[in-house]
Amino acid sequence: MAGIEHLILIVPIGPVDIEILTALGSALSAVFRLPAGKGEMLPIPPEAYNYRRRQYHSSRILDLLKPLRSPGVYRVLAVIDEDLYVPSLNFVFGEADIESGVTIISLARLRNEIYGYPPDNKLLLERTVKEAVHELGHTFGIGHCPDSQCIMYFSNSLEGTDRKGPSFCHNCRSKLTHRSIG
Ligand SMILES: [Zn+2]
Ligand SMILES: [Zn+2]
Repeated sequence: MAGIEHLILIVPIGPVDIEILTALGSALSAVFRLPAGKGEMLPIPPEAYNYRRRQYHSSRILDLLKPLRSPGVYRVLAVIDEDLYVPSLNFVFGEADIESGVTIISLARLRNEIYGYPPDNKLLLERTVKEAVHELGHTFGIGHCPDSQCIMYFSNSLEGTDRKGPSFCHNCRSKLTHRSIG
């Protein structure tokens, strides 16, 4: 059952809109040509919370999620609706642990409302898929790309995320094909 061994497991950490999880499943499966499945919701780990910053430490959550990698699970994408940080940055949209193939993205800063604009579900979905493809791209050994249209372009602002396209540039795409299976 080769297919089963290549599953991308999408795991909600705390409550996450089912519509977003479903859309992520089909988008990721199309981009990486791997089956994607939704796992059980896991509780938000209180030990990853930083009371001073009022954010969750994304690397600590990733560490806790590493055991989810199993012979049947090729990549893990955790989705959380809370703000994430790493010590060197004010916030992160997501993070990838390249060695384990476990990634996390946060929806907290992808919503228009946060910035005083009217809610836009379609845009939220597009941004979520972009962040997910970007983080998973890292687990295939693809680093940041200088092409501002490429999904692997580093963006730490929503403008940057909105500006870039939903897919890999030619160069990054070729790295993906060499490293992914099938
Ligand atoms: Zn990145
Ligand atoms: Zn690129």
